[in-house]
Amino acid sequence: MNKQKNTLWDEAVRHLKETLSQEIFDKWIAVIHCRSIKEDKAILVVGNDFYQSWLVENYIPLIKKALSIVSGRTFEIELMVDYNLVSDSPVEFVTKEKPRPFASPKRPKEVKTNLNKNYTFDSFVVGPANQFAHAAALASAQAPSRAYNPLFIYGEVGLGKTHLMQSIGDFILSKKTRKKVCYTTSEAFLNEYIEALQTNSLAKFRKKYRTVDALLIDDIHFLAGKDRLQEEFFHTFNAIFENHKQIVMTSDRPAGELSGLEARLVSRFEYGLVVELESPDMETRVAILRKKCDQLNLSIDPSLLFYIAERISSNIRRLEGALIRVASYISLTGQEMDRAKLEHLLRDTLDQEKKHSVSVDGIQKIVAEHFDIRVSDIVGPRRPKNIAWPRQVAMYLSRTMTNQSFPVIGEAFSRNHATIVHACQAVDKRQMEDLKLRQTISLLRQRIEHQAKKTQNDL
Ligand code: ADP
Ligand code: MG
Repeated sequence: MNKQKNTLWDEAVRHLKETLSQEIFDKWIAVIHCRSIKEDKAILVVGNDFYQSWLVENYIPLIKKALSIVSGRTFEIELMVDYNLVSDSPVEFVTKEKPRPFASPKRPKEVKTNLNKNYTFDSFVVGPANQFAHAAALASAQAPSRAYNPLFIYGEVGLGKTHLMQSIGDFILSKKTRKKVCYTTSEAFLNEYIEALQTNSLAKFRKKYRTVDALLIDDIHFLAGKDRLQEEFFHTFNAIFENHKQIVMTSDRPAGELSGLEARLVSRFEYGLVVELESPDMETRVAILRKKCDQLNLSIDPSLLFYIAERISSNIRRLEGALIRVASYISLTGQEMDRAKLEHLLRDTLDQEKKHSVSVDGIQKIVAEHFDIRVSDIVGPRRPKNIAWPRQVAMYLSRTMTNQSFPVIGEAFSRNHATIVHACQAVDKRQMEDLKLRQTISLLRQRIEHQAKKTQNDL
């Protein structure tokens, strides 16, 4: 069975090798693994979503043809993703392979610290949505356990939590002070814990985690509902904390909102500093794309970067994924990219993004509700003081949470372009100085996003 599987697939591969250029073969065929071949079905596996969608779009018919040529039968192909095959995401593998962005995917040799060498403060672009988190992370890295302990970073997926957390590790290690830094995900922590239980090596496990200078533990929301694990982590936390060593955690939500997390852990997680990563604004998104282009040695027309940044706003990983897609299209086809092609190439991503799209109307409604005024007050001509501020907040949120331009937003508020610009600056400035306002804005954002998702689901 195995033999048949291998021979058939190997033969098809050999056939493809003969028919495709070396470059394309290496990039797109050599990365496929054959899991099984039955009568009329082949199950193939690749290491990330990007390969999957690219192959489905471009190479599945060729692969089918090759299989039928070497076997005399027709095959249905199922193409699956197994993240364990290569690295976690297309973007990550690409960024790890700097000089030859699309060469063979391999995990980097960083087993010792578990840190991804691309996740540093240098490569982290700072903007209004992440500057507090960034400043806190940097301070913790410069003075571990003395600045903020624990540091709790939360935010939605793809907004840079892991990147920022690992930057702290990288920074501490770069000082060559022989500090012991341990980065782990909560899931890996669980697996290690279970293994320790099974192999009677709990003492060793505990020693490993409780004697570090800095513990960076990612995706702590994973602990929710897992009582034994929480118990173990509670003691780990206490030991590190009492030794005056640094703890950094990330989560997709604030600790208090994680249902199934013991109160004693919640209160500990909130001992130190809690910071949020929010969706980056337009300028930051463009800056991130520029930085990525530099890192990958890509030259892409700035107007295209702008176009991508304008449309993908809720997830930086997705933003990078889109860039890689465009870059590989250009490198593979040698064709110029234009808007129509771009739109076609990114249609799946853009669809996903639309799902979360937030409307100016929706924002006005939620802001009005929060400040207990009417929407007609916000958009109307009146200028009493109690309305001016909510109105500015609504303008600011419209600018930062939708893809709309200043003039379009201006129209929605029956105001001109300059008024919106002014409102955004005013809110930005006040936010810098006012923690309470930051919290209010963050709460409003959550409500708006929540409402947008709900509306989508209802459609
Ligand atoms: P999370 O852990 O929040 O899901 P990641 O840290 O994995 O997100 O970030 C997703 C991707 O976006 C990574 O490739 C990361 O390098 C990139 N990224 C996130 N924030 C920034 C930023 N501010 N500057 C540059 N790259 C960023
Ligand atoms: Mg992460």
